[in-house]
Amino acid sequence: MAQMLINHLDPPLPCSGKVFKTFAAEKLSPEWQDWKWQFRNRITSLEQLKDYICVTAEEEKAFQAAGKNLPFAVTPYYIDLIDPLDPNDPLRKTVIPRMTEFTTTAAEMVDPCGEDSHMPVPGLVHRYPDRVLFLVNETCSVYCRYCTRSRIVGSGKHKVEFEEVYDYLRNHPEVRDVLISGGDPLVMSDEKLEGIISNLRAIPSIEVVRLGTKMPTVLPQRITENLVNMLKKYHPFFMSIHFLHPNEITPEVERACNMLADAGIPTFSQTVLLKGVNDDPVLMKSLMQKMLKLRIRPYYIYQCDPVQGTSHFRTSIDKGLEIMEHLRGHTTGYAIPTYVVDAPGGGGKIPVSPDYVLSREPGKTVLRNFKGDVYEYIEE
Ligand SMILES: *Cc1c(COP(=O)(O)O)cnc(C)c1O
Repeated sequence: MAQMLINHLDPPLPCSGKVFKTFAAEKLSPEWQDWKWQFRNRITSLEQLKDYICVTAEEEKAFQAAGKNLPFAVTPYYIDLIDPLDPNDPLRKTVIPRMTEFTTTAAEMVDPCGEDSHMPVPGLVHRYPDRVLFLVNETCSVYCRYCTRSRIVGSGKHKVEFEEVYDYLRNHPEVRDVLISGGDPLVMSDEKLEGIISNLRAIPSIEVVRLGTKMPTVLPQRITENLVNMLKKYHPFFMSIHFLHPNEITPEVERACNMLADAGIPTFSQTVLLKGVNDDPVLMKSLMQKMLKLRIRPYYIYQCDPVQGTSHFRTSIDKGLEIMEHLRGHTTGYAIPTYVVDAPGGGGKIPVSPDYVLSREPGKTVLRNFKGDVYEYIEE
């Protein structure tokens, strides 16, 4: 922890004595629970943000330079989780622009996972033999500064040819699993989303429909009775939820995740490993355990993709391995996700794991356990 603070210290804050607005009054009103209110009242400008958070000089500069990059938006709910005076608040770093977004390192790319080159139809990424990624929109409720799809989100340029996608899937019966993502598909109305899911469900070769979202974390009010009652008509239906930090686990999030689980929707987590946010084995273990308590099965920890302007977020693969080493054997197996590198250039997700096999020879494998004790397995 000490090290990550040193990495990210900003100049002293220019806000001493300033009193910041809070959402204390709004939180008492029923509209706080209304997801459409949360969405409509998102903080989308520097001027608005300054009312709630002490913005550093560097962040202010980044706002002024913005426009050619990722848009800015944060829900009132999520802003409320951020300490207004702490420039190192972990959630703050993930949503407020920094000047580093405007520098590109040699290894960084616009489309690091090579999605655009694997699109047989606009909006559909078909990389793996039996499953596809369906990017149904480009809008999110909150824009993550490390977004792997910053080339698309909020650009106004993302094209989706829905009818062509359904035709493609009807003509490709080898596809048995569709992952709906975006943008964030839960930004859509229940009706629009149901249109998409029911069209997919009408294709007999599609066995599994799943949806990737950050809404339960950044706008948990989105999970309503109406939504879960709609989704549960389309079982087997699964959800992957983006979580970053234990500070995101709130009573509202707990309520949302319980509603999903009670509707029989299995939920899985996706966490991006981010420097100064969650690159700490103790913190990551706590996050995994907290998610498991919400009946979310930790699924993936992603090495941060080399997307343009994200160098300040990237950690070493050694750090990821250290985190995995701290999980396996030390906590419930259910709480242990797979650490993956989404291969730059479009090779797909590749698991990376600490080495527990010390040596192999015919008939004999030498292994170590989580404590470092060495064992032999003899094959006769
Ligand atoms: C992540 C991903 C999937 C789903 O992968 P699983 O490992 O099955 O969860 C499918 N298609 C693309 C292009 C992906 O990036």
